[in-house]
Amino acid sequence: MVCEKVPLENLYCLRCSRELELGHKSVAVYMFAQTVGIRPRQKSAAQRICFCPQCSVSLAMGPAPEGALNIAAWQMIRDLVSSDPALNQAAWETLRGIVGVLSAGETESGPRPACAGGYFEF
Ligand SMILES: [Zn+2]
Repeated sequence: MVCEKVPLENLYCLRCSRELELGHKSVAVYMFAQTVGIRPRQKSAAQRICFCPQCSVSLAMGPAPEGALNIAAWQMIRDLVSSDPALNQAAWETLRGIVGVLSAGETESGPRPACAGGYFEF
């Protein structure tokens, strides 16, 4: 999942404060609140929380956090991280600092997307 078009807004990873430019790989958690059984029904504005791939994987691999909301978000991120290795690969690429640059001579490298610039279809 990629943070989508938000004009005039810079996004930052909630955990490490890394700036997440538009189109960069990240995980977005959307959240809104709504009244139930109360009239008139009220609905809050939606909030979006973003995590960079490294923090997403790190959070998912780590122990459960404290707090019901944190656990709910943690389970969602775990679901994403565990369902497809693409997010792990994105984190790996960031860690290696080779986004868009394939270093020559690395024989152990796994398959990489051919596209440059960090744009990657999930
Ligand atoms: Zn981060």
